[in-house]
Amino acid sequence: MPDRDDLVESYLAPIRARNSDEPEFLQAVEEVARDVVTVEKQHPEFARNKVLERLTEPDRLIRFRVVWQDDAGEVQVNRGWRVQTSNAIGPYKAGLRFHPSVNLSVLKFLGFEQVFKNALTGLPLGGGKGGADFDPTGRSESEVMRFCQAFMLELAHHIGPDHDVPAGDINVSPREIGWLFGAYKKMQGRFHGAITGKGTAFGGSELRVEATGYGLIYFVQAMLAERGRDLSGRRVAVSGKGNVATHAAEKAVQEGARVVTLSDTSGTLLAPDGMGQEAIDWVRERKRAGEDIADPPGRLGLTFREGALPWEQEAEIALPCATQNEISGEAARSLIDGGCGLIAEGANMLLTAEAAGLVQEAGIDYAPGKAANAGGVAVSGLEMSQDAKGRFASGAEIDSALRGIMAEIHGRAAIEGRDGARIDYRRGANIAGYRKVARAICAFGVI
Ligand code: NAP
Repeated sequence: MPDRDDLVESYLAPIRARNSDEPEFLQAVEEVARDVVTVEKQHPEFARNKVLERLTEPDRLIRFRVVWQDDAGEVQVNRGWRVQTSNAIGPYKAGLRFHPSVNLSVLKFLGFEQVFKNALTGLPLGGGKGGADFDPTGRSESEVMRFCQAFMLELAHHIGPDHDVPAGDINVSPREIGWLFGAYKKMQGRFHGAITGKGTAFGGSELRVEATGYGLIYFVQAMLAERGRDLSGRRVAVSGKGNVATHAAEKAVQEGARVVTLSDTSGTLLAPDGMGQEAIDWVRERKRAGEDIADPPGRLGLTFREGALPWEQEAEIALPCATQNEISGEAARSLIDGGCGLIAEGANMLLTAEAAGLVQEAGIDYAPGKAANAGGVAVSGLEMSQDAKGRFASGAEIDSALRGIMAEIHGRAAIEGRDGARIDYRRGANIAGYRKVARAICAFGVI
């Protein structure tokens, strides 16, 4: 019998050969493969049907040119993509990211992760990802609007309410969703829920904007409850200053925690005694205005440290909410030295391979993004069903549904990941998501 490493290697070798120039994608596949080979032993039909190989080859990769005109009248050319990874359990469902770092490797990695995340929610949602290498920094409102319209001119051919339902992601906030949906509606001549994250005046769900950050805190509360603890008085370091970071910070404060950091690419804001709502609102406003966080007003009690990382602060809980691979080995060592006992990902794949090893060795409770940040896509799923029914739930109803879904995701990951007194949430989430998608793929036959 081959040992586990040999088995993993036998899966990975051809995948590596086929995708050799896609490091983020390979990193994500390797992590999942290490956990799910044991499932393949229990379900020989998964191996026979080559489920893992099929999932690492997206259903479809769509790449297109986006041509638009800037305020100076100059023609600009960008590249857009939609990766449709798997619709085994429902329509493709995932966000759009506008950022110069967007490329096929990043989108394939995000699409792969999304398949398992969406399965974990218990909702009928497939997975994918999309975006463009467009950088909105320094662009006027009308330039960003024209870009969104030009992007949708092509994307509209590939999406629809029972086919592929995009949403927001980095630099695609409710403002951009409005422009994208407006262009889609104009082109199709139809009003239906082909995009989520819409404003509540035109088919959006209450609490979609808050859902990822709030859901992250509900997941952390479920993790703490496993150990008979709660959030009250705990020091929480948060990275990022965007949608996920500020809503996670807000909910953590509401639940009694002390949020000691927020950050952006310029540096970190420190609040050793914890931030108040006014400080979080100020950060949110800076993000909205496209400005950095370097000069907080004195009344907020914040200090800005240029180039510093949140992980240098003492905190019991770390919530990385900015972008992939932001916790290096060195950052993980700082967290361990600072007494961190719990890391939950607001963004996706935040630990480098070295950091992941150190975190596991140190026995830190670690929740991967595919479980901990699934609140956003879960409320997107609720938005899809509200659009289909034409009946909309109140904020309190959605909040209660979100709490319930996050508790269920925690339960699914905990059952599969329990290892004595510890829960390996990464393994649990990978296995629970994979098992569900694999069963569907096998049921469809060889197609
Ligand atoms: P966002 O509103 O655009 O904010 C992202 C923020 O992260 C930006 O303010 C950016 O700072 C900051 N950032 C980027 N790289 C950084 C770095 N290396 N160090 C510190 N800060 C950095 O995006 P978001 O919607 O909050 O999403 C954040 C992450 O969560 C993304 O990875 C996304 O894929 C993931 N996620 C989002 C959702 C959702 O519902 N929105 C759901 C699941 C997962 P600058 O302003 O300096 O550029």
